[in-house]
Amino acid sequence: MDCIFCKIIRHEIPSTIVMENDTLIAFNDIKPAAPVHILIVPKQHIESIAHLEPNHRAILADTIFTAKEIAREKGLKGYKLVFNVGREGGQLVDHLHLHLLH
Ligand code: 5GP
Ligand code: ZN
Repeated sequence: MDCIFCKIIRHEIPSTIVMENDTLIAFNDIKPAAPVHILIVPKQHIESIAHLEPNHRAILADTIFTAKEIAREKGLKGYKLVFNVGREGGQLVDHLHLHLLH
């Protein structure tokens, strides 16, 4: 898949990985918009929230749960979780990802 996040998932493009398991990867945003800016990315290539299907429910729940775990491990007391959806929603990379910002 010719997708920048798929390439990161395959370790073809380097990134600062925060967490990785069979279904998800989390890495630092290359252009941080806040002191902590981590992207939590399902390994399955789903384009966006708008492309979710019923069988993706568990992946989406895992994505949000992982954000919460990373925030807890980093001792963040408050943070923002953002999904940009579609170009008009500010989404530039068409591979579903959750921004964790603090
Ligand atoms: P979007 O605008 O699609 O919601 O967010 C995409 C994010 O991916 C942006 O914040 C951008 O800085 C980040 N990004 C784009 N390309 C790369 C990359 O090659 N490596 C990393 N670590 N982040 C990237
Ligand atoms: Zn992808």
